[in-house]
Amino acid sequence: MTSSRAVAVYCASSMAVPEGFLQLAEDAGRAIAARGWRLVYGGGSVGMMGRCADGALSAGGEVVGVITEALVGMEVAHAGLTRLDVVATMHERKQRMTDASDAFLILPGGFGTLDETFEAITWKQLGVHAKPIVVLNHEGFFDHLLAFLAAAAEGRFIRPVHLGLITTVATLQDAMAELESPLAWEGTRDKWWFESAPPRP
Ligand code: AMP
Repeated sequence: MTSSRAVAVYCASSMAVPEGFLQLAEDAGRAIAARGWRLVYGGGSVGMMGRCADGALSAGGEVVGVITEALVGMEVAHAGLTRLDVVATMHERKQRMTDASDAFLILPGGFGTLDETFEAITWKQLGVHAKPIVVLNHEGFFDHLLAFLAAAAEGRFIRPVHLGLITTVATLQDAMAELESPLAWEGTRDKWWFESAPPRP
């Protein structure tokens, strides 16, 4: 089966997070595969990342991993993927994952996840891509971050309209509904902010 659509999932590489979060990642992988979509992710077998890949594979889905040479050992490159791309740098890794995906699903994670997430957001802000970015705020994991972003927008460090660059949902079911919306895939909804954003003073 060749999937026509691909979702990049960014999430924790840690194995030490509560089981409920690991399960969420597995369920997300399964849900993506169940819709016939390809999973694109960082290629590791550890933590939520590994569980997400395992979930998608167990549901018969295609999974493409993108990992750097240096991380093959550290994040234990997953041996059972449909394809594993080994690249030279972290920049290349993110570029490759962005190019290979039609949408981003953000699950709870650490610095790596946040770096990947903010790069997806800032590239969208700059018009580098117009792909949906869905943040799954499982058990309020992102509450503090979202409050920070709201405060930054309040102070005009972030244009309030740019808060619309991401869609925040509370459940995996809502995340899938968001990703299933035809508008999301066409990317048209994601262009509104760019066109409606007022010129910089
Ligand atoms: P973490 O959320 O810290 O567990 O990391 C999740 C994933 O993000 C792991 O595969 C990390 O290798 C990756 N990562 C960490 N830092 C970066 C970075 N600067 N650029 C791209 N990926 C990163």
